[in-house]
Amino acid sequence: MNNNKPEKIKTDKSKKDLRLGVMGGVFDPIHIGHLFTAEEARTKFNLCKVIFVPCLQPTHKRNDQITNIKHRLKMTYLATQGNPYFEVSEIEVHRPGPSYTIDTIKEFRKIHGWQTDIFFITGADAFLEIDTWYKRDELLTLCQFVAATRPGYDLNKLHDNFKKVLKIMEIPALAISSTDIRYRVKNNLSIKYIVLEEIREYIYKHKLYI
Ligand code: ATP
Ligand code: MG
Repeated sequence: MNNNKPEKIKTDKSKKDLRLGVMGGVFDPIHIGHLFTAEEARTKFNLCKVIFVPCLQPTHKRNDQITNIKHRLKMTYLATQGNPYFEVSEIEVHRPGPSYTIDTIKEFRKIHGWQTDIFFITGADAFLEIDTWYKRDELLTLCQFVAATRPGYDLNKLHDNFKKVLKIMEIPALAISSTDIRYRVKNNLSIKYIVLEEIREYIYKHKLYI
């Protein structure tokens, strides 16, 4: 074992009632809002691990250029390596075309079967757009959803039908976003403490977001 890295927790696939967290995202870059949300979901819902899934091609439009997956993936590995319960999946990286969550969850279902409970973890903003998600109704039958509260996004706006399938997770307000981090780098503002130090160094070393 590498002395600097904690040993990753191995999942015993033969064991019933596995509870798996899946956190999808663009992670451009990954920040403490993502990490805290995942860790909070892991402990609150007793998950055996949380798998971070960086997307190749986001399905929701963004106005600026998305950073090459090579960098987003590397940053996701760097940010999660200190937590033995965190893993990274390259499932979407190797799947051409738009990264639809339903395709990813179906692949996890194939690997883990139906005895595993899958919890897809999102922020409130992402879940509020559920109406626009590809094959939404089918997706809702394939896994459970956890939505973390996020400043500026009110989950009470959701239709009651969605509130029923959703587990709302109250987290201390973290008004941190990748958008703001990209803006800060571009404008020479500090990003210390809102991303892990390894990520801050990686961003400057590779001259991202300038
Ligand atoms: P961007 O500003 O580029 O959209 P982001 O900070 O929203 O970036 P994403 O990669 O789009 O990050 O988000 C991945 C997932 O993490 C989404 O479900 C999003 O809602 C959630 N998330 C991101 N930041 C937070 C936060 N501060 N609190 C709670 N959830 C968050
Ligand atoms: Mg976002």
